[in-house]
Amino acid sequence: MRFGDFEVTLINGGNFRLDGGAMHGVVPKTIWNRLVSCDDHNRVEYATNCLYVEGRGKRFLVETGNGSKFPEKEREIYGIAQDECVEMQLRARGIDPLSIDYVLMTHLHFDHSGGCTRRTSSGFELVFPRARHVIQRGEYHDAVHAHERNRASYLEENLTPLAAAHALELVDGEVEVSPGVRVLPTPGHTAHHQSIAFDDGHGQRLLFFGDVIPTALHLRLPFIMAYDLDVVATLESKRRLLEKAKSEKWLLVFGHETETQAGYLGFDGKNNPIISESVSLD
Ligand SMILES: [Zn+2]
Repeated sequence: MRFGDFEVTLINGGNFRLDGGAMHGVVPKTIWNRLVSCDDHNRVEYATNCLYVEGRGKRFLVETGNGSKFPEKEREIYGIAQDECVEMQLRARGIDPLSIDYVLMTHLHFDHSGGCTRRTSSGFELVFPRARHVIQRGEYHDAVHAHERNRASYLEENLTPLAAAHALELVDGEVEVSPGVRVLPTPGHTAHHQSIAFDDGHGQRLLFFGDVIPTALHLRLPFIMAYDLDVVATLESKRRLLEKAKSEKWLLVFGHETETQAGYLGFDGKNNPIISESVSLD
């Protein structure tokens, strides 16, 4: 899809399944299960949406999905299909991973950073060796100093190879990474989570939320994942983003949505925020 100076393509890095209770926080199953269905292990299916963006002489990839390194046991737990990883999806579209200039990740949990590295006979190597991997400095610090509450989400195989190859570009706060491409702090899910914005040069903005609002259902303010480290910070990040999204008519993109992956904000008859005009980013 054309978005001003940029050509934008949504690529699903592969579906996986997460516990429906954990995904909806304090919202009881009697409510969320009317809106999304789950399997007999209580798991809901999610996408790991990545955004491939080309424009102004550069190639960008937002998020990298689960990647292709999970052993059989984890693949079963999370229902991961490895043959759908973002590297394969890019190659299938004729895009060489070597040609990516920037990898922009909202945070370093495995379902966002797993596609950065691949397994070799002797260890791990970068999938996008030429790219600057842009992340908030605080997020990288928290990832390498994980604690009991978030340790399962940060995998060394997704972190060490990036640092060893000096491929990280650690930033502080809101930064214009490249003309028209910004990272915006949206704390809550992690303390230094960021969302990614593309400004088309004609007053229009596309926002990739990341896990601050992972699906269209999470547009509703109380729908906040139990994984979030600071729920009230997430609530405030959401409130702030939704006000701007409404007044400035941002094109919104969801990282884990399998159905309505992108569109414009509207409200239903009960004043719940919804996507009222969906947009295909093929
Ligand atoms: Zn996630």
